[in-house]
Amino acid sequence: MSSPSTPLRSRAWVDVDLDALRRNLRRVRDAAGPGAAVVPMLKADAYGLGMPAVADALRRELAPDGPWAFGVAAVAEGEALREGGWTGRVLLSAPASPDELPRAARAGLTPAVSELDALGRWAELAAEAGRRLPFHLEVDTGMGRAGFPWAEAAAWGAEAARIAAGRLHWEGCFTHFHSADEPDLAATDRQWERFRHALSLLPAPAEGDPPRVVHTSNSAAALRRAGYGCDLVRPGIFLYGGMAGADVHPEPVAFLRARLALVREVPAGTSVGYGATYAARGPEVWGTAAIGYGDGLRRALGGAGGEAIVRGVRVPIVGRISMDVSVLNLSHVPGARAGDVATFIGRDGAEEIRVDEVAERCGTISYEILTGLARRLPRVYLQAGGP
Ligand SMILES: *Cc1c(COP(=O)(O)O)cnc(C)c1O
Repeated sequence: MSSPSTPLRSRAWVDVDLDALRRNLRRVRDAAGPGAAVVPMLKADAYGLGMPAVADALRRELAPDGPWAFGVAAVAEGEALREGGWTGRVLLSAPASPDELPRAARAGLTPAVSELDALGRWAELAAEAGRRLPFHLEVDTGMGRAGFPWAEAAAWGAEAARIAAGRLHWEGCFTHFHSADEPDLAATDRQWERFRHALSLLPAPAEGDPPRVVHTSNSAAALRRAGYGCDLVRPGIFLYGGMAGADVHPEPVAFLRARLALVREVPAGTSVGYGATYAARGPEVWGTAAIGYGDGLRRALGGAGGEAIVRGVRVPIVGRISMDVSVLNLSHVPGARAGDVATFIGRDGAEEIRVDEVAERCGTISYEILTGLARRLPRVYLQAGGP
């Protein structure tokens, strides 16, 4: 790839393909079926890709109304969505600390509630606000990080209904799967049964309230267990180009690229990088790419077979990755020169390095690679009609 240098693309950057994002959303929506609404998860700055632009693209894809809600994990993320002009629902899917609930109320967020004290606090805030505030109640069916225990639903269900009465709108119930991306879905099926059991023990909605919205599915469950979609699905990673289980491939959305700042011929024996862990085996051509771990290019890739694509050819990273630069062996790339683009995640020509491949080399998951892309990298948004 030989894209012209622009200020945003002069050093290292992330190209974000908003059309691919929208197509991935369509895949999830089609898999979940017509009965399920979509709540795109925008937490962690839309998995590192930039919440404002991602939210905007998803709103356009789901025009005219936009999604049923956007999902966030932090109150500040919900506030940022409000500042960006989103007036629809914002589901705060992670538990907020008690100190944050007043801000959540002011921003009009819909929190996930996991215990009765927080529900009581939310009801007080509703009384102060003079209106019924909505909430979704999380049921813990095995994730263990939040939610009311599934087996005791009869007890807490009655208590939750009492606290909510007249003050809150108990709008939804949900659970979260811990292993929906594993080859074996037995654990997911067990969580589903626990959730159904808990739901069966809950009191009916208050007089005049609509049926509660029920939801369970992250990307993997939405794509692999469509029947569990219930009223809405909460996809994240698949929208952003990460696999949701071994057999479910999204279109790539994030492309991590950097310019070659220097290209040089080096004699045999020349060493490279901290610790001088690699030396040229003969005369070699090395390119210094203007990207390092300070940009989110994992240092672990240096010793783990990490690669980039230059002029459509896969090339190895040699030596350790520094904070600001990394060195590529370009000996097999005809015509490589300074200013060329090296692609560390994504496609160039016929070659592709998937974010999941990078994650596997680093012993982690695509989520951590994407959310670890540093602020220093400009996000460049691509969509039909140009960036
Ligand atoms: C992050 C998150 C999701 C999205 O999960 P993916 O695996 O990224 O699709 C869904 N629900 C909750 C509660 C989450 O925290």
